[in-house]
Amino acid sequence: MPASPNAIRAEEHKVASFANMQAVIDAIPNPTFVKDRSHRLVLINASACSLFGHSRETMLSRSHVDLFPEDQMRGFHAADDLAFETGREDENEEEVTDSTGRVRHVITRKRIALIDGSEHLVASVNDITAAREAEARSRYLAFHDTLTGLPNRAMLQERIEQGLSRKTHSGALLYIDLDHFKEVNDTYGHPVGDELIQEFASRLSEIVRAADTVARLGGDEFAVFLSDTSHDPDADDVCRRTLIAAARAFKLTGAQVFVGASIGVVLTAGIPIIPSELQRRADVALYQAKNDGRGCFRIFTEALDDRAKHRQAIQADLRDALATGSGLEVHYQPMMDISSGEIEGFEALLRWQHPTRGRVMPDEFISIAERSGQIIELDEWVLTTACIEAAGWERQLRLSVNISPIEFAYGDLPSMLERALLKSGLDPARLELEITEGVLIEDPAQALDTFKRIKALGVQIALDDFGVGYSSLGYFRQFPFDKVKIDRSFISEMLDSSRARCIVQAAISLALGLKIKVVAEGVETEQQFALLAEQGCTQAQGYLIGRPMQVPQFQPRVA
Ligand code: C2E
Ligand code: CA
Ligand code: CA
Repeated sequence: MPASPNAIRAEEHKVASFANMQAVIDAIPNPTFVKDRSHRLVLINASACSLFGHSRETMLSRSHVDLFPEDQMRGFHAADDLAFETGREDENEEEVTDSTGRVRHVITRKRIALIDGSEHLVASVNDITAAREAEARSRYLAFHDTLTGLPNRAMLQERIEQGLSRKTHSGALLYIDLDHFKEVNDTYGHPVGDELIQEFASRLSEIVRAADTVARLGGDEFAVFLSDTSHDPDADDVCRRTLIAAARAFKLTGAQVFVGASIGVVLTAGIPIIPSELQRRADVALYQAKNDGRGCFRIFTEALDDRAKHRQAIQADLRDALATGSGLEVHYQPMMDISSGEIEGFEALLRWQHPTRGRVMPDEFISIAERSGQIIELDEWVLTTACIEAAGWERQLRLSVNISPIEFAYGDLPSMLERALLKSGLDPARLELEITEGVLIEDPAQALDTFKRIKALGVQIALDDFGVGYSSLGYFRQFPFDKVKIDRSFISEMLDSSRARCIVQAAISLALGLKIKVVAEGVETEQQFALLAEQGCTQAQGYLIGRPMQVPQFQPRVA
């Protein structure tokens, strides 16, 4: 039906009044526009045109289907319809694509009635893009590690929760620790350390599938949550590839370094388990991998868990023993001068009389104490106790005390020595510390400094367990040892193995050439003793000469 002349006139009148309003609406700084019932724009201000990136003519004439993506159009229309229907001021957050890309805005619509009774919507656009971006950024930061861009612990936690909530979930959690990262950091500085972390993160990300989660937990600790290990690659495979990725050379600014990784794995297949327990198990497995010499992976088992619980129990009991001093004893094993047949000194060896387990030997608890840091306190207790006891011996012989590499590297050994000497009144010339060569390599400059400060106190230093570690001859040039102790394993084999015999001979010759004493450890038989005497060894220690005893025995068993 054609429109009546009256209707046409009314329409023209309305258009004319909108034209008059143009100047008014253009003065509004917020993007603002007016739409009619059929979603047609009838008025739009300059600010809105520049926001959308189109001219006023385009905005008013063209169908908006050409200007905005279809899903956005549908959203606008639905919101328009709702506003027309309810008449409420409607704050609706919508995505609007401008000429440069996708942004977010809040559009506030309000229905108005004109004099002629027709209804329109007035929309004013409030740009909240910046706020939304800031929110997205802080959400990102809350769930990602800034250095690598990897998910962080919080995000890993979420992924684990999601994974475990699926009944059929057969995945795996890997805890990965870089080996020797601290050395790289200390030697080349933190920026180079950061580079290494970034490079490893990207190598790790290449190993897993998109559905898996690679996270950085902090420092040199990473985790991988495998979402589905029922197909290749399985957890073993991922572990092997991770070990290779970590062992490959890292070419960093000004340095090429080699590290390695230790991995603890727990498989989730079919076990109802809470995330924190899963994480604890991965930790237990990781501890085992490190304990087994690093550079390997270990899968969680109940047996490993029992060991972990045993370790924790030992730590707790050791804490009690250290607090009260009860149950701890120092025993003394003699060292004999081979040519004179006289006892020349004693090595202090720690013994622990446990309230329920009976006697616990150092091999069982020293490494546990080293891991927990309790060794620092333990070594001080042994040193002080042994110095006090030795000061009261009937014969003023030499006292040797074992010092853990941990104490040497992280403790303040010279101060600890000074305290023990002061407290006991022991003549420093009678005291000797036994250290293993491992302590010298981590930071040779610092080790040499500590070495000199100990020697300045008048205390001697012996190299323990010679032959089983790196056995670099360079140490003898750098560090002025007073004594070298040949490891028991060579002595026990020397009668049967010409190779062991040859190594013992070489160590003796080295010591004689350097004019330092050389002790054969673990001498158990007359034949071993005779052979050592023939080879020119200066001192012997072992069950043949005497076992460790609470009260030192000044008479050797052989003579
Ligand atoms: P080590 O320093 O090499 O001590 C020698 C170990 O060999 C002692 O074991 C000793 O009892 C044992 N031994 C001595 N002669 C013989 C022998 O003829 N045959 C055999 N089979 N063994 C012999 P122990 O007391 O069990 O100590 C083991 C290790 O624990 C020590 O090795 C030392 O590394 C560490 N350790 C012991 N006491 C202390 C301590 O007070 N502080 C620290 N940091 N470590 C300690
Ligand atoms: Ca020793
Ligand atoms: Ca030894």
